[in-house]
Amino acid sequence: MALERTLAILKPDCVRKQLIGEVLRRMEAAGFRICALHMQHLSRARAEGFYAVHRDRPFFGSLVEFMISGPCVPLVLEKENAVEDFRTVIGATDPAEAAPGTIRAAHADNKGENIVHGSDSPANARTEIAYFFGDLSAD
Ligand code: GDP
Repeated sequence: MALERTLAILKPDCVRKQLIGEVLRRMEAAGFRICALHMQHLSRARAEGFYAVHRDRPFFGSLVEFMISGPCVPLVLEKENAVEDFRTVIGATDPAEAAPGTIRAAHADNKGENIVHGSDSPANARTEIAYFFGDLSAD
């Protein structure tokens, strides 16, 4: 199987709780190579652009407020089957429904503040990597 890349974001709650190291450790222990990483404080426009697919959902406003509430850490991860495997590692959106041992089950407070983002398809991974890291999606 070919190597694949996915986009992860350590969300502002992950940074506030001082879990950056813990979540990066989990990523590496699960076999992902960290290709790029850039802590940044998103502007409202950047957060709205990233989550544009959700702009008509009732939680869009609170999602954007949360994502701009402090710095976050977008990163690019690589391994075989990276997109699907990373979704398994992070667990369901709602930590109450996330499988035991997943990052969200271990560390997320609720469905909105859920520690980490992971691309949900290879096509979205390419778009999302390009959104934060430009050409890295094409390597
Ligand atoms: P994901 O792919 O598991 O991250 O979930 P989605 O793509 O469905 O939603 C994107 C993000 O929006 C989630 O990770 C949450 O941070 C947020 N979100 C989703 N559903 C809700 C909700 O019902 N309430 C709130 N406050 N935030 C939500």
